[in-house]
Amino acid sequence: MAEHLHFVWEYNDRDREFWNEHFESRLPHSIIDAHIHLDRAEFHYEEMTEEMRRQYWVSEVNSPLTAEELDYADRLVYPGREVQHLVFGFPSLELDVDRSNDYVSVQATKRHWPALTMLIPQWTPERLEQELAKPNIIGVKPYYALIGRSPETRDEYLEANIFDFMPHPLLEVLNEKKAWVTLHVPKAGRLPDPSNISQIKELRRRYPDIILVIAHIGRCYSKEHAVEGISQLADDEGLYFDSSAVINPQAHTAALELIGPDRLIYGSDNPIFYMRGRRQIEGLKYINRTSYPFYFNKVREPEEVEKNYTLMMYEDIKSVLSACDSCGCGDAANIEKIFHGTAQRLITRAMDGKFA
Ligand SMILES: [Zn+2]
Repeated sequence: MAEHLHFVWEYNDRDREFWNEHFESRLPHSIIDAHIHLDRAEFHYEEMTEEMRRQYWVSEVNSPLTAEELDYADRLVYPGREVQHLVFGFPSLELDVDRSNDYVSVQATKRHWPALTMLIPQWTPERLEQELAKPNIIGVKPYYALIGRSPETRDEYLEANIFDFMPHPLLEVLNEKKAWVTLHVPKAGRLPDPSNISQIKELRRRYPDIILVIAHIGRCYSKEHAVEGISQLADDEGLYFDSSAVINPQAHTAALELIGPDRLIYGSDNPIFYMRGRRQIEGLKYINRTSYPFYFNKVREPEEVEKNYTLMMYEDIKSVLSACDSCGCGDAANIEKIFHGTAQRLITRAMDGKFA
């Protein structure tokens, strides 16, 4: 088992206590985590160097998670629950995307999980159709970093437009197949950027049969971004958001107040949030606190605070539940929708489209 997952392998009494206190009586028996990345070190062209790892905190935390490791982690972090994932690879051209996509399809099929294929914008519509025909693939995971390889920075294409990495001829195929799209929005301005708002609206208007899920509620990790971005899209009943990586009850509350519990879908964004620690929000910025001596972890909290850290994915789930409570939708039926029901309904719809 990989060392990077030590947070999970060292699942401890504090984690168990946290689960029992906050989740045992509240989370449904069946859970769908609609945002998780599978990967294998051998898919990467170059071995991750210490220098690469230090560039960006996610690189330090995010080492490949194999399907077997995920099975093992699931039994620890979701005790007694039946867990399904909507899986996809790690969206980067620093690895062999074809091999990764095939791996994801094979592993998902073995486990009866749905999966997304990473979308290469240069694919022809025919190529996309072939990819969508592979077992258990119900849609795509587009990403601006898949436009072109740029080993020096992950942000070369951050300012791209949505239609640059999801071109119209491919969107037509996705619409016809009623495919699922988990969209990580571009732009430093996050979801509220006017071009994101107008292109999401255009996408919904022109391709209404695509199941569009905006990842990380549009990268709105602060309440301010969430209110500004989501309010402009809230009246579209057919647009969904995943909760992953937000770890901020105020941002989740803002989202729930605007879209209600029917359009928010649980996602973990693991392996990143197996990390042990907590996130502190300061205005529009965030700091990840962790007890592990990562390079990015320069300012540590006192030992008595660190002692109480649990898995960051637990902090994230707790922030979703407390947002539900603040919005008056903390009952079992609404929580079931967020952690299972809505994703299940949309997966069924995508499967119907696949075999239509
Ligand atoms: Zn992700």
